[in-house]
Amino acid sequence: MPVKSKHIILALDLGTTGNRALAFNEKGELLVSEYKEFTQYFPQPGWVEHDATEIWDSTLAVLKAVLRQIDTHKIKGLGITNQRETTVLWDITTGNPVHKAIVWQCRRTSDRCKTLSEHAPTIKEKTGLFLDPYFSATKIEWLIQHVPDIQDKIDKKKIRFGTIDSWIIWKLTGGKTHITDASNASRTLLVNIHTGDYDSSLLKLFNIPKTLLPKIVESSGHVADTDPNTTGISLPITGIIGDQQAALFTQCGLKTNTVKNTYGTGLFIVTPTGKFPLKSDTLISTIAWKLNGELYYALEGSVFIGGAAIQWLRDELKIIATAAETDGMATQSDNNNGVYFIPALSGLGAPFWAPEARGLLLGLTRGTSQGDIVRATLESLAYQTRAVMDEMSKIKSSPYSSLLADGGAVKNAFLMQFQSDVLDLPVHVPKITETTAFGAAGMAGIAVGLWTVESFSKLNTIEKKYTPNNPPSANATYKIWRRAVDTMIQNC
Ligand code: ADP
Repeated sequence: MPVKSKHIILALDLGTTGNRALAFNEKGELLVSEYKEFTQYFPQPGWVEHDATEIWDSTLAVLKAVLRQIDTHKIKGLGITNQRETTVLWDITTGNPVHKAIVWQCRRTSDRCKTLSEHAPTIKEKTGLFLDPYFSATKIEWLIQHVPDIQDKIDKKKIRFGTIDSWIIWKLTGGKTHITDASNASRTLLVNIHTGDYDSSLLKLFNIPKTLLPKIVESSGHVADTDPNTTGISLPITGIIGDQQAALFTQCGLKTNTVKNTYGTGLFIVTPTGKFPLKSDTLISTIAWKLNGELYYALEGSVFIGGAAIQWLRDELKIIATAAETDGMATQSDNNNGVYFIPALSGLGAPFWAPEARGLLLGLTRGTSQGDIVRATLESLAYQTRAVMDEMSKIKSSPYSSLLADGGAVKNAFLMQFQSDVLDLPVHVPKITETTAFGAAGMAGIAVGLWTVESFSKLNTIEKKYTPNNPPSANATYKIWRRAVDTMIQNC
């Protein structure tokens, strides 16, 4: 039977590998969803690019496909969530990007970050972030230095910068609105997270003119309307939020004693810290969202390679045909047979921050099987999560009672069970699988009075629970893996 609805909230989930448009009703039920993958470009080792025009074309295509299937009179608002940090510069005269977008995973500015290392402590203090190629600032700088004839256009105020949210909103509004929300802005390395505004000394350090930058708005609020010439009807844009913060809003809301991990391309372990940022030497402090005039913060462990390691097994090693078959392969043997994997395929992010690190397979013998390598790869996702959670526990006073898991890889029962064992903590998987899109819908729906923060938080319920089975054994193997990582980093 088709799901009924009185009101509809639309969401655009603009991810790293594809764009999705979704329609939810007032009960948080999914009515329709359309998805389109886009091309990944790897022009050099460690470099990752997207075609921002292709991202726009596929966004519009999935949005229109959803609009065709619903009663558009019921639409109350549109929420946008997106891959963060990915950097687009475009020319407002032509409406076209001046270069391919530089993706968050791209390491091309590693050397530039090294030359700025004396500024790292000030940058951490102001932005909550590490001086790392992951964030937008050095990517913008790189584009300004490498795109021919761009300086003249910048001087004439013809160039704009945006993360994917800004770029898509600019296109959706027919070039009228150049904005970003506080959560996305906090990932640029240009924003002082204590004030939520751009920091002029950081703009100077990275040589970035202010005329390039979008206005920072709240994560929930009616901030723009789409151009009917583009989208067919005018849609109120009422929510904008970065993808990990969106999943955090769905999973944890404002509850500071909870923690979520999204098992997607990367792993993003995030916990809300309320109205104050917490300091950590190994984790990122970030703006979670800006709501009703107030900034809320989160502590985040960003792990660059999660499900991407499974894609690597499939696309490069070709030892699996689908991600789904890893579950069965991992349980062919009842232990890891001494095989360990350090998935530093684009350096190591949290909590190690070692951009020079490279991947390592350890403990191989003549008898090592494909199943052993698959299992070691899955286990490495759980070990990386434990390394981050150990850091979080040092900083937050109250212990967590469970880990709230979401993302594509939560379908893997072996991984979820092993995660529960390594953490010695229950792992809960929610009924709503689209936690990222749903968080954006939440921001959009709260802005138009469809939900309150409280009523929205009740829509997400737990579907599956994993409880610890054999923590001592998982703890022992974690210690071996951790020693290997520490040794490798010392030698990088
Ligand atoms: P993203 O939003 O980052 O594109 P998703 O949340 O859609 O990622 O999850 C996709 C990731 O999950 C892929 O990297 C894929 O390898 C991984 N994945 C999907 N299904 C499984 C599975 N059954 N076991 C392990 N990993 C999986």
